[in-house]
Amino acid sequence: MAESVYSNYPPELSPAQQKFLVTYVKDWAIQNGLAVRPSSAIIPNGADTNGVLATNAPVTLFPSPFPRSCFEEATALQEIYNELYANITCDEKWLGQVVEELIEVDDFVSNLWKVHLDVQKEGYVQNLSLGLFRSDYMAHVLPTGATALKQVEFNTISSSFGGLSARVRQLHTELLSSPPGPSVNYPPHPLLQSEVPPENPAVETLSAGLAAAHTAYGVSKSRPALPLCVLFVVQEAERNVFDQHALSRQLQTVHNIPVFRVSSVDILDQTSIPSSNSARPLLYQPPHSPDSTFEVTTVYLRAYYSPDEYKSNRDWEARTHLERSAAIKCPTVLNQLSGCKKVQQVLAEPAGPDHLSNFLKGVDKALVERVRDTFAPQYDLSSGSQGRTLALNPETAQNHVLKPQREGGGNNIYKSDIPDFLRSMPESDWRGWVLMELINPAPNAQNVALRNDGEVLRGNVISELGVYGTILWDSTGKVFHNEQGGYLLRTKGKEVNEGGVAAGFSSLDSALLF
Ligand code: ADP
Ligand code: MG
Ligand code: MG
Repeated sequence: MAESVYSNYPPELSPAQQKFLVTYVKDWAIQNGLAVRPSSAIIPNGADTNGVLATNAPVTLFPSPFPRSCFEEATALQEIYNELYANITCDEKWLGQVVEELIEVDDFVSNLWKVHLDVQKEGYVQNLSLGLFRSDYMAHVLPTGATALKQVEFNTISSSFGGLSARVRQLHTELLSSPPGPSVNYPPHPLLQSEVPPENPAVETLSAGLAAAHTAYGVSKSRPALPLCVLFVVQEAERNVFDQHALSRQLQTVHNIPVFRVSSVDILDQTSIPSSNSARPLLYQPPHSPDSTFEVTTVYLRAYYSPDEYKSNRDWEARTHLERSAAIKCPTVLNQLSGCKKVQQVLAEPAGPDHLSNFLKGVDKALVERVRDTFAPQYDLSSGSQGRTLALNPETAQNHVLKPQREGGGNNIYKSDIPDFLRSMPESDWRGWVLMELINPAPNAQNVALRNDGEVLRGNVISELGVYGTILWDSTGKVFHNEQGGYLLRTKGKEVNEGGVAAGFSSLDSALLF
């Protein structure tokens, strides 16, 4: 079945058809904010002195076929996944045991844990946490030819591209269905006549999560009371700004919530916690309006997920400052740590305590097993372990990926590189890494991508589906808001190991279910 869907898709493009599609997509992207700021690889440093330029986000010309059963299973499981990661975050002791393994070998994880310990010592003043999550999958082809949903990873911080992926769905839908009648935008193909990509309410879902936190914060803790706002904490040189603006605009225009953006480097200058107020409200003073002060209900982090963002102690001080405030954090340090690859490996362990069932006690057993079925085999590298044997043997390493506790793409070691890479570092550091079996997506899928420098690439591809979910819970595990909605399909050349869009490996895509 899968074989035949992929074998003649997408249809061949004549030079005139390709030119038409590329022009259409380029213009549509800018007209509709399916855009990113250009990298220095496209516009040399200093050439765009005023920072006015934008280019299309990398995007596929065709939507990609994706198995309907896998798509539906991923959306059906998202709310349980939300609950799972909320429950893990609540279990400070369990998380502490997992993190302890990493602390000696991973400074980044160790510093994050230290932020938690410092705030815990003083006492947290906010017991609500917000998660804006994205669970990533591939459709794994089994030896029988059937497909099964397998999780690549679960993201608990800065889960991006909800804003742009909804736009790609709109772009492909318009290409498929306007003008009315048989598609004139694409060459004839059965898949392009019968379906449009499923709706993509990622912006609505993610904004509704932020709005739920904003409301749950309640009234101002300042005397006299201050107006309330949501604060987006962003990276200084962020290129993916339009994706973020899609969320802030929805919050402002639909939910009527004031939203501000602040670079992580400016946190200590532009926000404060009055020492006289034991409730520790986080106050924000917009530099463009120095006479107004807002109280921050919710801190949404689109920053602070990578060690290179913490250049000095001042950056750790800023992170601690946010963490100890009364603002609801999306995510808290503990929630960020729950997204460690190590946690995902421990959950997938077939032997020993059944952590997954323990964290999902109230959930129907059959559903818990469906969550478990999405796990691909993962291993630690302890001495005498199966993981170590698999990783050091070039033949078995070939079917694996080695992952550190990092986010944002570009950090993994693949296949035959694994044995030598491991041997190049002290054995004592191996426990900072997990080994994961490679998921095996359809081998003959193809698509055409328009990269953000205008290059058009056609070839064999691999698609990765991400499903968005939001959850608001308190430290006792009580849930106030739990929703799934919206997806990201990212498609990359088959020869490319890594997968991030922002990291330059993939293109944004949408799904034609079959
Ligand atoms: P990050 O948090 O940096 O995004 P990921 O675990 O998502 O880390 O790995 C990055 C990319 O590596 C993925 O987008 C995917 O393309 C590839 N990858 C990761 N794990 C697997 C796997 N088990 N099988 C196949 N590809 C994988
Ligand atoms: Mg990730
Ligand atoms: Mg990833």
